[in-house]
Amino acid sequence: MTGTRSGTSSASCLPQPPDALPRYVLGLDIGGTKLAAGVVDLAGTALSFLVQPTGNGRDPDTILGELFALGRRAVAAAGVDWSVVDAVGIGCGGPLDAERGVLLAPPHLAGWRDIPLTEIAERELGRPAFLENDATAAASAEHRHGAGAGARDLVYLTISTGVGGGVVMNGQLYRGAMGNGGELGHVTIDWKGRLCRSCGRRGCLEAYVSGTSIAERAVEAMTAGSSLAKKEVVTAADVSAAARDGDTLASRIWAETLEALACGLTSIVNLFEPEVVVLGGGVTRAGEQLLHPVREMVARQAMGPAGHARIVTAGLGDRVGVVGAASFVYERALARRDDR
Ligand SMILES: [Zn+2]
Repeated sequence: MTGTRSGTSSASCLPQPPDALPRYVLGLDIGGTKLAAGVVDLAGTALSFLVQPTGNGRDPDTILGELFALGRRAVAAAGVDWSVVDAVGIGCGGPLDAERGVLLAPPHLAGWRDIPLTEIAERELGRPAFLENDATAAASAEHRHGAGAGARDLVYLTISTGVGGGVVMNGQLYRGAMGNGGELGHVTIDWKGRLCRSCGRRGCLEAYVSGTSIAERAVEAMTAGSSLAKKEVVTAADVSAAARDGDTLASRIWAETLEALACGLTSIVNLFEPEVVVLGGGVTRAGEQLLHPVREMVARQAMGPAGHARIVTAGLGDRVGVVGAASFVYERALARRDDR
């Protein structure tokens, strides 16, 4: 651990016993459109929460400089001294090497390749830093503090510009060999289907139900009679709203979205038999318009008791990225302590 530029003059990394839990964790979330930072305690409370645009397309050094500055402001906004912020957790989309703390080549961050993220963060912020896939981190947060609290087996799916996933099995976060397990957005629902921009294969769940894909499918199918034809830019929220209003084209696209989601979720619950499936991300703002039919289809299609999984919306809202980025750090520390 290096101690330079640790944010404020009060930064004095007080030595902690090796099995002590972090007193506070600075959670950082690197999204394709937004950067977020917040100080989070063991109970999952975000004492601060700051967000700014990523400004994607600029060089990684510039964006990371802004991320760390946002982190320093988040510590100031939380009203805690830097000396009690014992660790930094970073959530980011994969592919990544969580053990080494290296971002390999995330498709949502153009031009980022083999970035030694935790090494840079430790140098800049002066405390241990840890990296996790953002959806895996979010699964940890929803499991420990959100809609999946108390469940032993849980699946988390975030449906926004892309589709990410995270899995908790037997009460433990499932991470895979290098931290890339649980990419549930790339479960195939039609092996000759639409091209998936993130992974390059065809027919991924993401290629149908991400916000981007819902809007794309509506634009491709557009007819002059649809209320959506008047819009300059069509979003997934426009499609769900127009479907609610009875627009024929939007209703068809929305129905297809629900079928695609239920198809993917059926495979997922058959695979993991979770007690609860937590759905987060912007597309789930449609609420029961999405949940009710998907619950019914999954219950009907899944094999036996797997179809009993409760399907609920996420509990942590916009803060899930930051709480998740801290939550997995606490989770690792707790596992380490229990191993002793
Ligand atoms: Zn894919």
